[in-house]
Amino acid sequence: MDPSLRIYGNPQPGETPNPGGAATGHRVLIDEELVESVAWLIRLRWIAGIGVILATWFVSKAFRVQVPTQPLLVIGIGILLYNIVFFLIERRYKKTIAPIESYRKLAFVQVGFDWLAMILLIHYSGGIESPAIFFLIFHIIIASIFFPQVTAFGFTILAIVLLALTASLEYFSILPHYAIGGYLDFPLYRNSLYVTGILVFFSCAALITAFLVTSIQKRMRQHEEEIVALTENLQIATSRLQALNDGAQAISSSLELQQVLDRLVKNTSEVMGVRACSIRLLTKTGERLEPVAVFGLSQNYIKKGPIELENNPLAREVLAGRIVNIPDITNTSLLQYPDWALHEGINAMLSAPLTGKNGPMGILRAYSDEQNWFTPDDEIFLAAIAAQGSIAIENALAYQAVEALDATKTNFIRTITHELRSPVSVTRSLLRTITAGYSGEVNEQQKDLIDRAIRRIDFLQKLIDDLLDLAAGKADLKSHEATEPVSLEEILQRVVDRFAAPAKEKGQALDWELQTDQPCMVMASPEGLDRIFNNLISNAVKYTPREGKVTVTLSRSDDDDARIVVEDTGIGIPEEAMEHLFEEFYRAPNAKEFEREGTGLGLTIVKDLVTRFGGRITVHSTPGAGTRFTVSLPLVSEKT
Ligand code: ADP
Repeated sequence: MDPSLRIYGNPQPGETPNPGGAATGHRVLIDEELVESVAWLIRLRWIAGIGVILATWFVSKAFRVQVPTQPLLVIGIGILLYNIVFFLIERRYKKTIAPIESYRKLAFVQVGFDWLAMILLIHYSGGIESPAIFFLIFHIIIASIFFPQVTAFGFTILAIVLLALTASLEYFSILPHYAIGGYLDFPLYRNSLYVTGILVFFSCAALITAFLVTSIQKRMRQHEEEIVALTENLQIATSRLQALNDGAQAISSSLELQQVLDRLVKNTSEVMGVRACSIRLLTKTGERLEPVAVFGLSQNYIKKGPIELENNPLAREVLAGRIVNIPDITNTSLLQYPDWALHEGINAMLSAPLTGKNGPMGILRAYSDEQNWFTPDDEIFLAAIAAQGSIAIENALAYQAVEALDATKTNFIRTITHELRSPVSVTRSLLRTITAGYSGEVNEQQKDLIDRAIRRIDFLQKLIDDLLDLAAGKADLKSHEATEPVSLEEILQRVVDRFAAPAKEKGQALDWELQTDQPCMVMASPEGLDRIFNNLISNAVKYTPREGKVTVTLSRSDDDDARIVVEDTGIGIPEEAMEHLFEEFYRAPNAKEFEREGTGLGLTIVKDLVTRFGGRITVHSTPGAGTRFTVSLPLVSEKT
């Protein structure tokens, strides 16, 4: 039996806890067997008592054999009477759920009475000549099943002694001899050779029987114990595996650090059946441990004081990668605050390291009210939870870092663009004032230079606008939230009108086709929609050579979405550029060649906004022949 085996869970009220983890399952099984066997013996005894009475009657009346009927009947009735008493006692025991010790005593007294009845029966049925001697063997078998080997042998020797005593007393005529059948010439009970022979043979048979039965019984019990222990081990292993699996799923289902930590301590406490659990993580300087999640401990205890590695040998041990089991708080020099722990009612602790890719991160600790609570199995188990927990904590920490970085980046872009925006606008309008001649005559050469400056400034302005938009999208600005039903027709009309002049300038045909007579309302922000189509149509005009054609259509799809198609007969998009099209700052090589200016941010913003409004965007292009962007947006249902 593995001494480290333990039945997990908190002891119930009134139940003795299980310090050190001694197995109790097999005991329960053997005790149950004893309780059942006592009842079984009582049932058997009814048959024995009635059997003695019937046999006496049968032998004396049917076969007319001369037997001492009276004493034998008294023995039979006596057996039945004391069996009634045992029966009543056993019933009371069952009702009051008597302790197992009472059953053990009852079994002992029963066997004692049976022994006595048996010897009397033998005496009155012929002493050493009695055929009932063989029945003693049954009793020896029963005693060997019931009691441990030593007790069983004690009863066996008692049987031999009692039989020898009866035979001797009869031999020396101290006790009367009851002859069965009435022979007179050669009374065997007086034949010393016969008496000795029977006694020797009986003793050998009795001792061998006792030895065989107790040995078999012992082996069977051992097997039974092994099976029970194995089953218990298997149950514990299964439930722990299940718990570990559930825990892992619960813990890693979140990237929110505090949630991960809280779930970890709660799960660990529950699965290990302990009073409390805590996580302490190393501070950035690595000099101390801070409590970050606690389950089952008082606030006072948590705030007891800093855990500085310098003063805390336990923390140093654990962070070095060891699992430390402290079975008795009063008997360790590893703790920094042992009195606090005792005051909190903690008597044992088990600590495991939380280790990340870059070394130790902190400590996962389980606490128990009981001394010697944690077993070697628990150590392995806590280490497994800690390993799993470490991964979840690392993931959550990485996520937190990325989020922080993203926020910083977004803030940075917003600040920069805001700071740049006004000087650029001012410079632009000043330059326009100069070309308009408000500040005096400008010659052709100067005008050309200023126009070029204005074009550069325009590009800068667009870049700033795009960057600002991108940052706004990332920062979840209110301006991009879908707040109201917007008419697509109106927005598209406005944007197409905006590009009529530039398209005309390039000799392009810009067609606007409304292919539905129903209103197309979508939940979006008007500015966001404007931005989407402004980008798509401006790209179409930009990347289509002179004399080309740009077509914008609005229709309803079969699944009741609004479908907007912006199609051109332009330069197209090379196959290899397709997968990068919506990436920030990406521009296809043919686009760079065709048009020097461009930020590579427009489509990123478009995709972001379309997704935000619950829609989809797809692109189809044939290099050298043209491109078609299709945007689908969910329509606001007519009923709403
Ligand atoms: P930009 O137009 O400033 O370069 P966008 O994000 O708007 O940036 O577009 C990204 C890239 O997608 C463009 O550089 C170009 O390679 C490609 N592209 C977008 N629209 C078209 C189009 N209508 N025809 C051809 N290429 C296009």
